[in-house]
Amino acid sequence: MSNETSRARILIIYTGGTIGMIENPETKVLQPFDFSHLIDNVPKIKMLNFDIDNIQFDPPIDSSNMGLAHWSQIARSIESNYDNYDGFVILHGTDTMAYTASALSFMLENLNKPVIITGSQLPIGEVRTDGEENLITALQVAAARNSKGDAMVREVAILFENHLIRGNRSSKVSADNFNAFMSINYPDLARVGLDITYNEDALLRDISNRPLIVHDSMDPNVMFIVLYPGMTRPTLEYLLKTPGIKGVVLKTYGAGNSPSEPWFTEPIIAAVNRGVVILNVTQCVNGAVNSNLYDTGNKLARAGVISGNDITSEAAITKMMYLFGKGMTSAQVKKYLQRDICGEMTTKG
Ligand code: ASP
Repeated sequence: MSNETSRARILIIYTGGTIGMIENPETKVLQPFDFSHLIDNVPKIKMLNFDIDNIQFDPPIDSSNMGLAHWSQIARSIESNYDNYDGFVILHGTDTMAYTASALSFMLENLNKPVIITGSQLPIGEVRTDGEENLITALQVAAARNSKGDAMVREVAILFENHLIRGNRSSKVSADNFNAFMSINYPDLARVGLDITYNEDALLRDISNRPLIVHDSMDPNVMFIVLYPGMTRPTLEYLLKTPGIKGVVLKTYGAGNSPSEPWFTEPIIAAVNRGVVILNVTQCVNGAVNSNLYDTGNKLARAGVISGNDITSEAAITKMMYLFGKGMTSAQVKKYLQRDICGEMTTKG
């Protein structure tokens, strides 16, 4: 590992995404291309004076194809290179970036180095690309140290345009704006403008120095159920009886509200009694579940549904995958869903 004055050593893990795509001359659609193409388009990287190595997915993928095996591949690549680098930059498609950022935050226990995820809305070869700036800034963040020479960021974060945000607090909020990601319920870790201004109070600090532990047995037997007016009892029952399902992230209205009528509450109570863990998360982009505010939300809590407070949907579903993946019982999963594990939700006190 570099000391305070030596060149930063950064490993780029290129998974694919728009940042590295080029247009197929026949079909005119964007397709992932290899890393050398990407780096050839950013000659300024050499000006950073960092030691940069890279590994890439073979083939690079559109992040819509991202899955549990890919998350494991990323996490294991970080683990096997952990002692040789000061920081890691993951180049990733934007579509599922918030899910990967959330998943990695749970999978990389005791992380004490920067894992910075970025990508772009326009391919790096395009004249108006945002990819060049995002890549360069992500590398700078991965190399940043504080006055003591320690890594400034010691967690999984997304760098995109003007924002450095905690990975498990992030959501993709725009399909076409350069500022495509936001952390709505938690302050930015840094503001990126003329300077990169870190918000040191918001950054995670694990001073334990315990060795990195990778958890990559994520359990896919979880799902979202999104409420909408007009949903029927057979639909709800069908979803809740999905074979093998262990956990449901229930996307409710407003401050965690749902219908209070028997067509809804009875199947929910039956599922909870069967041992299905149900986590109440709001459909709203901003704010939190407050089960004490309305009778309709309180009924869910009394039925044994857990409040997700201000957790994002992306963090909620990946947290469930992680907890069930550790072989926990429903009761244990419920307990840990109410605890903040790595900065993903606000808890009282
Ligand atoms: N479909 C692309 C992906 O997620 C979109 C992007 O990278 O912006 O891989």
